[in-house]
Amino acid sequence: MGGSENPLDIALSQLDMVAKQINLDPAIHNRFRKPFKCFIVSIPIRLDDGSVEVFTGYRVHHNTSRGPAKGGIRYHPDVNLDEVIALAMWMTWKCAVVDIPFGGAKGGVACNPKAMSRAELQRLTRRYTSELINVFGPQTDIPAPDVYTNPQIMSWIMDTYSVSIGYVEPSVVTGKPPAVGGTLGRQEATGRGCVFALHSLLKKLGKNIDEQTVAVQGFGKVGYNAADIIRNDGAEVIAVSDSKGGVYNPKGLDTKKLWQFKEESGSVHGYPDGDDLSNEELLELECSILIPAAMENQITEKNADRIKAEIIAEGANGPTTPDADRILLERGKHMLPDIIANAGGVTTSYFEWVQGLERYFWSEDEVNSKLKRIMDLAFENVWEIATRDKVTMRMACYILAVNRVSEAMLLRGLYP
Ligand code: NAD
Repeated sequence: MGGSENPLDIALSQLDMVAKQINLDPAIHNRFRKPFKCFIVSIPIRLDDGSVEVFTGYRVHHNTSRGPAKGGIRYHPDVNLDEVIALAMWMTWKCAVVDIPFGGAKGGVACNPKAMSRAELQRLTRRYTSELINVFGPQTDIPAPDVYTNPQIMSWIMDTYSVSIGYVEPSVVTGKPPAVGGTLGRQEATGRGCVFALHSLLKKLGKNIDEQTVAVQGFGKVGYNAADIIRNDGAEVIAVSDSKGGVYNPKGLDTKKLWQFKEESGSVHGYPDGDDLSNEELLELECSILIPAAMENQITEKNADRIKAEIIAEGANGPTTPDADRILLERGKHMLPDIIANAGGVTTSYFEWVQGLERYFWSEDEVNSKLKRIMDLAFENVWEIATRDKVTMRMACYILAVNRVSEAMLLRGLYP
């Protein structure tokens, strides 16, 4: 993972800043600072060598005022409670920015999935699900993929839950393959949404997509699809990286070939049609758009003054620390903050949930055009606030989101 800043400190400081800006009711502010519920579970599983290992799993509901808890599940050695709380809080704001009827949640298991076999991952996933069987549910808490989890893992969650309740319930989890009730377009959705938001920003700035050069950190579900889609739309993708390193070609990279290379070799590093570069070099590369799409804390006060891209679109959650944010702003950079830039994933998860509940499935075009409508509207709403209140895009996102969630909380009132 990146720097050492605790993502929860970052999430709280962002919340505190917006609370001050909008004069948020202190009672609501205090409620937002704490998650509604945190679950910590022990997950004992038998490894392939016959030994038993006990992993720790987490699930956090930050705020469910606007609907059931929604958020991804991460498998990563660094997963811890504070990180999961921060990610759950960002989900609350993200769902509110795009105005979909979910609350914010997140989950994770501290493990190294790269060192585990498929069978071990399946046992881990099923036991994690069964430990949280009364927490998950289509009306209560709907997980999705995040770092190092994928549609296969979502299928095992769906199956474990369905076996336990005695009938098939596709809408307990999103990011499933279409064969088991997933939606078309979900795999690409986060990257696609990021590119929709970039188009909106470029239009406001009077810039053309085909004049843009793009660097993408993290070549996974978000980074690969964002790179591939923006390249199809006319931009040049000149550098990408993953946890093992990066590759650079000023003439442009063929994203599809690069994906194939990564599938076969395990990394983009070493791709023959480009030069090797490190993750640090990628972030500081001469390009017009930088898409951090890996982990938190990648752009910090240590490197913010060396970032050359004019636009930073946060595909990842929390890639920029508040100090770095300030430096980038002073340097006139344009930020597309995570809670809008990567909201395409949860928006299409929402579509998947609706389709699963109705058992009625849409065409890919319908999914993508509905996604575009929601992303475009969210961008316009945020842009309007940023212009009206003369605040950053990040602050504008937070104003919109925090106001929407507080309105819901105040309308529902305090129980009892
Ligand atoms: P993924 O597991 O599919 O891909 C992660 C990629 O990042 C991999 O290529 C990995 O090698 C790379 N990576 C890991 N550590 C790195 C490092 N230190 N430096 C450079 N690269 C590194 O995960 P993903 O789903 O694409 O998630 C990426 C980010 O996007 C996360 O912050 C996640 O929370 C966020 N996000 C994901 C979704 C989604 O729909 N999957 C939605 C919204 C936000």
